[in-house]
Amino acid sequence: MRGALGGPRVLLRRLREVMAEPVSAQERLDKIVVLIAANMVAEVCSVYVLRVDGTLELYATEGLNRQAVHLTVMRSDEGLVGLVATEASPINLNDAQAHPAFSYRPETGEEIYRSFLGVPILRAGNTLGVLVVQNRARRTYSEEEVEALQTTAMVLAEMIASGELTSLAQPGAEPAVRRPVHVSGAALTDAIALGHVVLHEPRVVITNFIADDVQKELRRLGVAIETLRAELDLMLESGEVAEGGEHRDVLEAYRMFAHDRGWVHKLEEAVITGLTAEAAVERVQSDTRARMLRQTDPYLRERLHDFDDLAHRLQRQLLGYDHAPTRDKLPEHAVIVARSMGPAALLDYDRNRLRGLVLEEGGPNSHVAIVARALGIAAVGEVPNATGLADPGDAVIVDGVTGDVHIRPTPDMEAAYVERVRLRARRQLQYLSLRDKPAVTKDGQPVTLMINAGLPIDLPHLAETGAVGIGLFRTELQFMVAAQFPRTSEQLALYRNVLDAAAGKPVVFRTLDIGGDKVLPYMRNYEEENPALGWRAIRLGLDRPGLLRSQVRAMLRAASGRELRIMFPMIAAVHEFDEAKGLVERELTHLRRHGHRLPERVEVGTMLEVPALLFQLDELLERVDFLSVGSNDLLQFLFAADRGNARVANRFDPLSVPVLRVLKLIVDRANAHGKSVTLCGELASKPIGALALIAIGFRAFSLLPSAVGPVKAMLLDLDAGKVERLVASLMALPLGSASVRAKLTAFAEAEGLSL
Ligand code: PEP
Ligand code: MG
Repeated sequence: MRGALGGPRVLLRRLREVMAEPVSAQERLDKIVVLIAANMVAEVCSVYVLRVDGTLELYATEGLNRQAVHLTVMRSDEGLVGLVATEASPINLNDAQAHPAFSYRPETGEEIYRSFLGVPILRAGNTLGVLVVQNRARRTYSEEEVEALQTTAMVLAEMIASGELTSLAQPGAEPAVRRPVHVSGAALTDAIALGHVVLHEPRVVITNFIADDVQKELRRLGVAIETLRAELDLMLESGEVAEGGEHRDVLEAYRMFAHDRGWVHKLEEAVITGLTAEAAVERVQSDTRARMLRQTDPYLRERLHDFDDLAHRLQRQLLGYDHAPTRDKLPEHAVIVARSMGPAALLDYDRNRLRGLVLEEGGPNSHVAIVARALGIAAVGEVPNATGLADPGDAVIVDGVTGDVHIRPTPDMEAAYVERVRLRARRQLQYLSLRDKPAVTKDGQPVTLMINAGLPIDLPHLAETGAVGIGLFRTELQFMVAAQFPRTSEQLALYRNVLDAAAGKPVVFRTLDIGGDKVLPYMRNYEEENPALGWRAIRLGLDRPGLLRSQVRAMLRAASGRELRIMFPMIAAVHEFDEAKGLVERELTHLRRHGHRLPERVEVGTMLEVPALLFQLDELLERVDFLSVGSNDLLQFLFAADRGNARVANRFDPLSVPVLRVLKLIVDRANAHGKSVTLCGELASKPIGALALIAIGFRAFSLLPSAVGPVKAMLLDLDAGKVERLVASLMALPLGSASVRAKLTAFAEAEGLSL
C-alpha cells in the first residue's frame, strides 16, 4: 500500500487507544484526523457531520484551515463531499478539480489539493457524515486504502451515534443521527399509537470493533459462515421450513448467497483491514443497506434484502443473539418495527403492551396487516428502511389512518397527536353510548349491522360493538396464522368457540378462501400468472374435496343443536354452488348415519364476488338461502383493477353510477326472490359507502368492527327515504360513469350526518 504507515491495522489499534482516552469529544476528533492523515500519508483528513437541518458541517480537520471547523457548513448536495453523502458511496479521484461536482470553500484553503478520497460515514445504511482525505499531488488511492478509510468511518459512525458529538453542536444543528424523521407508508389500520420502538429483530450491538488478532478473527468468521450454511441446510432438509414461517424459496436463496464467493470475500477483506468478524459483517451489511435504499429495480432490491438478512443471521451467529429476546418483556406502549413479519409472530407479542407496528414490507392485504387490524393496533406498512431509521426505545408515532410514521417526533408533532388521540377517544365514547341502540334510520328503516371476523381475538368485538351477528367469518385466517394445516379438531374447536361467543347471534362461516393473495406458507404453491384469477377458494375446495369436506364436517359438528350458516367464496357459476351444497348434504347424511347430533338448521349461501354471477342471478337466487356481496373482489373483477395495487385500486370510484347499478340489480333481484342479501366488503365500512348502499336498497351489512360505531351514528340521523330519492334521481340522469360521491357528501353535510 502506497505510503501508508503501518497499514490499516496499526491505524485501527491507535484509534482504539484514542477512543479510550479521557479527552473531550473535540480533542478526540482532532486526534483521529491527525492519526488518519499520518497513517494514509495524506496532507488532509477531514470529518463532516450531517446535521438535523440536512447540511454538512466540518467537525475536524488536519491540513485544512482549522478556523473553518464548525464554521464551514455545506448543503448536503454541495460539492464532492455532498455527492459522497447523497450517493452513500466512496468517491476516489486523482484530479478532483476536473470533476463536475467539484466546488471549494475559500475559508478552508482546499483549492490546492488535487486528489480526493471521500467515504460515507454509514450506520445501518444511513449516512451520518463524510470522511475525506486529500493530497496535493495527483494520487490514485488504492482499493485497500478505500477499504481502510471505510473501516475507519465505522468507528466514527459509532462515535456520532453514541451522541458524544452533540455537545459540540449549535442548538438546532445537532448531528442528524437523532433527528426527528417523518416517513410515510401504506396505512394498514384505523388506529393511531404513540409509543416506543422495539425492534423485532434486535440490532446486534457491537462493542468490539477492532481485532487484536486478525487470524483469529478470520477463523471466527470462517466458523460462523460454515455454521450458518449448515443451519440453512438443516432447515431446508428437516421440514422445519414451515415452523419458522419462512418460505422455502427464501431459504433456498439464502443458501445460495451463503455460498457466494464475492460476499465471503468482502467479509474477509474487511477483517483483513483490522476489524473484528462482527464489525466486518456490520460494515458489509451497512454498505448493502445503503445500496438497497438507492436501488429501484425490485428484483435487485430483493436480492440485496436477502444479503442483508443473511448478514443479520451471521452476526447473531457470531454474537450468540437470541432471535427476539423482547417478545414477552415488552415495554409499555410498544411499537414493533420490523422488516417483515408473519402473522403468528405478531400474535406472540404481549397484546396488553402492544400499541403499534411499522413494517418495511407488508401491504394492506398482507396477513400480518389482517392480524394487526384484528388486534386494533396502529399499523403502517411499506416504510423504506424503517429498521435502519429507528433505534430501540425511540419515541414514535404510528398513524395507521394516514400511513405516517414520526420517529423521534418534535414536541409540536407529539402534542398534535396527543390531541388527535384524545378526540378519537371521545368519539369512541360516543359510539359506545350508541352500542345498545337499535340501528334504525330516522324514518324507521331497520338496518342489520354485523361484523367481519376470523380470529379468536375478533370475538370480543361482537359485544363491544353491539353488532347483531358475524356476517362474515373468514375461516382462512386460522390457516394463515398457523405454521401448518390446522387439524380438523382445531377447526372444530375454533368454530365451537365462535358459536359459544356469539351466544345465539347468527354467524356466517365462509369456507376456506385461500389462493390468490392468501397463500399458506406450508402449502405447495403453484406458479400462476394471475393468482387472483387462479386456482383459489371454492375452485380448490371442489377439486380437492378432502379439505373442504373436513372443514364442513367441523362446522356441522361445532353447530350441533344450533343454527349454522355456511357460505362459499368465489362461486362463479350456479353448478359450482350445486356441487358445494351437495357436499354439505353428503356430510350431513354421514353425520346423521354415525349418530351425531346435527345442527338445528343449516342455511347455505354464497358470496357474490364474480361478475359472471350477475347473469345467473335468478337461477342462483332460487337455490341459495342467502347472498353476501363481496364488494372487494366484485369491484376488482368488474374494473379489472387489482385490489391490492395502490396504482390502480383507487382509479375507479365505488360510488360511481355503474357500480351502483350493479349493486342495485343484486339487491332488487334478491328482494324479488325473498332472499336475504348482505354486503360484507369494505365498501360498507365507510359511512359514505353505507349511505350509498342504503340509498339503493341494502339493509344489511357486515362491517369491520371499528366501522360499526361510525356507520350506526350516521344512519341513526338518516332519512333513508330522502337519500333513496336523491340517488334514484342521480342514477336516472345521463351521468355515464360519473360518481355520486360529491352529491352524497353535500347531502350528508346538509342533513348533519357525520361521515
Ligand atoms: C370481498 O371480496 O369483498 C370479501 C369480503 O372477501 P375477502 O375480502 O375476504 O376477499
Ligand atoms: Mg373476496
